Amino acid sequence: MNIGALEQWYQNHQRDLPFRHTKNPYAIWVSEVMLQQTQMETVLPYYARFMTRFPTIESLAKATLEDVLTLVQGIGYYRRFKLLYLGAQYLLQVHQGIFPTTYQEVRSIPGVGEYTSGAIMSIAFNQPYAAMDGNVIRVISRLLGIEENTSVSSTRKKIHSIHQTFIEQATPRIYTQAVMELGALICKPQSPLCEKCPLKTECVALKEGLIHRIPSSDKVITIKQRKFVTFIVWRDNHLAFIPSKNALLEGMYLLPQVERERKQDETLIDTFFHVFSHQKWTMDVVEVDDFDDKDIQWIHRDNIDSIPIPQAHKKIVKTILLAKKSV
Ligand code: SF4
Repeated sequence: MNIGALEQWYQNHQRDLPFRHTKNPYAIWVSEVMLQQTQMETVLPYYARFMTRFPTIESLAKATLEDVLTLVQGIGYYRRFKLLYLGAQYLLQVHQGIFPTTYQEVRSIPGVGEYTSGAIMSIAFNQPYAAMDGNVIRVISRLLGIEENTSVSSTRKKIHSIHQTFIEQATPRIYTQAVMELGALICKPQSPLCEKCPLKTECVALKEGLIHRIPSSDKVITIKQRKFVTFIVWRDNHLAFIPSKNALLEGMYLLPQVERERKQDETLIDTFFHVFSHQKWTMDVVEVDDFDDKDIQWIHRDNIDSIPIPQAHKKIVKTILLAKKSV
């Protein structure tokens, strides 16, 4: 790879993003956690709010999980924020709130995997540790014409080891961000902008007309359809919520709901839908006088904004509150 051309392209064409103005490993950690599952445009306002509210490891570690989840509600994939929060607590206890500087120490932070460790070590500390995401896989497999299935671990290992060789010849801080930026802006999954690519003269996929075949993956995402009855239960201006027992929504507050078809004697208020990455929820919303669950928490209608509610139920709650206001 012509690393010089790639790095030069990055210097001239990178997007101006807030976390590119810092070498603070904590800020880079937060940005990487947010960007792993979420589009850049969505992340930016959340990142700004997060860093204003929790500017340091200590401020995050000393907050409550509820504060953290309330701040990020709407972004999705909440488990990552619980792990980020636990990671901050670990850093406060074990490293006195000072971000460690070696790979082994960074990798030991709860919830920080190989990708995030590599991103932090290279971007914050300019150390040659590879961070491989979907963008990197696409760029390297196209550049070298790797036609093997990239969902197979031996292919991923092969790409990772090539990526590691490249970063060892590069300026790690620039290289890591440059490959990801190239994947995001130029070497897009569909219709890459090869004429603008700094690697076009050496790209095997372009030369051999293989772009549509690379990266090859047989990963099929199946969307599971789930049907719920979701209950609105009022008691003296307090609405019933249940802290989620589902690992993906841990720490969030859900309206009571059961997974089944609506019965004939349950009067439908409205039906709502929400699509997660691997599930689609259909929620028939009904109002009842009571709901039996030992974990119910009654939240006053004026305080509902201060608890973390996942997007799937947030839109139901908003609609219900609006309707109640206008009665
Ligand atoms: S030339 Fe095209 S396919 Fe090859 S790396 Fe560049 S953008 Fe990707």
